[in-house]
Amino acid sequence: MNVYDSARMADVLAPLGYGMTEVPEGADMMILNTCHIREKAAEKVFSELGRLRAIKQAREDAGKPCVIAVAGCVAQAEGGEIMRRAPWVDMVFGPQTYHRLPEMVARATRAANGNGRAAGEGPVLDTEFPAEAKFDHLPEETAAPGPSAFLTVQEGCDKFCSFCVVPYTRGAEFSRPLADICAEARRLVAAGAREITLLGQNVNAYHGARQDGGTAGLGALIRALDKIKGLARIRYTTSHPRDMDEELIAAHGEVAALMPYIHLPVQSGSDRILEAMNRGHRAEQYLAIIDRLRAARPDIAVSSDFIVGFPGESERDFEATLALIRAAGFAQAYSFKFSPRPGTPAATLENQLPETEKAARLEILQNLLGQQQAAFNAATVGRTLPVLFERAGKQPGQIVGRSPYMQAVHVGGQVDGGHVDGGGAIMGTVAEVTITKALPNSLAGSLAGNSAPAGEHAGRAGQGVCA
Ligand code: SAH
Ligand code: SF4
Repeated sequence: MNVYDSARMADVLAPLGYGMTEVPEGADMMILNTCHIREKAAEKVFSELGRLRAIKQAREDAGKPCVIAVAGCVAQAEGGEIMRRAPWVDMVFGPQTYHRLPEMVARATRAANGNGRAAGEGPVLDTEFPAEAKFDHLPEETAAPGPSAFLTVQEGCDKFCSFCVVPYTRGAEFSRPLADICAEARRLVAAGAREITLLGQNVNAYHGARQDGGTAGLGALIRALDKIKGLARIRYTTSHPRDMDEELIAAHGEVAALMPYIHLPVQSGSDRILEAMNRGHRAEQYLAIIDRLRAARPDIAVSSDFIVGFPGESERDFEATLALIRAAGFAQAYSFKFSPRPGTPAATLENQLPETEKAARLEILQNLLGQQQAAFNAATVGRTLPVLFERAGKQPGQIVGRSPYMQAVHVGGQVDGGHVDGGGAIMGTVAEVTITKALPNSLAGSLAGNSAPAGEHAGRAGQGVCA
């Protein structure tokens, strides 16, 4: 979501004359868009700010402007702390405020230049949750999206898992109206996107207003987007087990453009820990959801998130997590040591686990998940899969895309000894690839003779809200 948000900030700043640069040394403004989910991510901000300070100093010594801004969830949660520890920062603003960037930039540049600075006006801090929805104030996208685009449909969270900062940093749950999402999706497809990933902290809690006065769930939204001609692939992330309804599960069986992949975090396999986490479901219910998803779409690849070492997690609780992993069979997963976050209930629980124990459990868990991922990847060798090509590879003549199951697929280069001629023409299209080799985190293959997008339709024209 931060990638999506950064692109929206660029859209807001474009009319002010700002364009993107890859080089901080040449930048008039540097925005750090930050993540507060675990301590490591938050701490990185302060070390990065130290590095940017030197760049700002050098630019200002040369008489050039340089505004430093901190955006995102660390800004939201630790705005005051950032101002105190890094007084060279000119702007600090939270995730719900970036439509107000022009006004903030005007104030900050006045302050930074020392011109016409009102008494007491210093660095700008905006971490309110404004009453008006920022999406109503954002301009249309300025940059070409590339073959695979993100689109935020839902933001915030009301679930308050006991370990998580999101409800405090992103605010209350909010769904964008269906028609606005369809309009943005149509623009993305017209600008070249072939795949859209719908984003939300609880994306399947989506309940957006329809123009007829009712509301649409995520399943209905996906069916509406399926009508857009030229949109070959739809994905969504991140979903919560409690919001996995029948309409969405059915969509996995019926909407060909909806890719057979789901990221469905479970966090733990122990009912005791799930309750302490306030997740609102038991392990068995999670496994039942996976069964229903597989009944609808037998080849669906399932991914998850795990936290090990939640306060009070016993050996037995940890074993229950390993048992859930064995029972579910994951195509891939993300796993983390519990990180106590300020302001969350779990941070102050007694019986916190020592780092060494968390690290030992994480290693065991990651080994098991790694074996499952390797087995999932190995099972695709010999199959021919539709791949959406997104970018050039590191090796000359190599191109990289994604399988329906989210695996990175490399074609050409040294991996298979081949060279893809005209790689440019195939970029942004779905082509059939025969998988020849499975690596731990990716696949290699060669283009099948006929590279027409046989396995996927290229968007179904039809009647409907998004057509
Ligand atoms: N909304 C999603 C997850 C959003 S946060 C859900 O409900 O599943 C992304 C992931 O970060 C979480 O799934 C969790 O595994 C991890 N995470 C969040 N807070 C954490 C913490 N305090 N310590 C360690 N991992 C954490
Ligand atoms: Fe955080 Fe997800 Fe729980 Fe919301 S549902 S509090 S985003 S982990």
